[in-house]
Amino acid sequence: MRGKLVVGNWKMNGGLRANAALLGALTADWRPAPGRSIAVCVPFPYLGQAQAALMGTSIAWGAQNVSEHRSGAYTGEVAASMLADFGCGYAIVGHSERRQLYADTDAVVAAKAVAVLAAGITPIVCVGETLAEREAGTTEAVVLSQLGAVLAAVGEAAGRVVVAYEPVWAIGTGRTATTEQAQAVHATLRARLRAAGAADTPLLYGGSVKADNAGALFAMMDIDGGLIGGASLKAEEFLAIARA
Ligand code: PEP
Repeated sequence: MRGKLVVGNWKMNGGLRANAALLGALTADWRPAPGRSIAVCVPFPYLGQAQAALMGTSIAWGAQNVSEHRSGAYTGEVAASMLADFGCGYAIVGHSERRQLYADTDAVVAAKAVAVLAAGITPIVCVGETLAEREAGTTEAVVLSQLGAVLAAVGEAAGRVVVAYEPVWAIGTGRTATTEQAQAVHATLRARLRAAGAADTPLLYGGSVKADNAGALFAMMDIDGGLIGGASLKAEEFLAIARA
């Protein structure tokens, strides 16, 4: 049976002092339960801090991006092997902010997923349509093409990936997909994963998830948890989502 996974994406937020308070509150208040896992994806400079605070707890940590290259002359980039050095369990790839602001193409996202897997880390592959694409009726085609690029690149490792459906119009906007809208896209993604022999790949929903809408979303058949942005910066709210 698939469990539930809730991952916080801190984005470019935090600082040593604020992180210490947040991580401390998470470790103090999170009660592990069978089939429920949580993780936080923090900015690169704070991976060591997250590792020190979370090592030996049931909370995993990870990064929000990674280079597709192994090493070399890529100034400012961070390799997957470096994330492994800091004990990362996860690395987000293909977040819509990376796709939109930093031109991460499907090919780059796929290469990043391959690099992350090679380092023994689980990639959280984000897919999602813009509002214009939804209104044009191309949601399924968009997410299937984004997912297809990754599946083609990772081959038999498809079962070691986490997929997050994040409609771009719902990220940080306070606008959440309805449970039916989210479930419909998740069912499409599930069918594609099943065809790739990876039916049990965790499928997270992301986009303005809060404590008061998480329960209804996570109760849907093909929603295995959430990728949480803004609400992951408040321990109480994040843990309430994780318990939902
Ligand atoms: C995200 O950044 O992945 C996200 C889902 O953000 P928010 O929860 O703030 O919409």
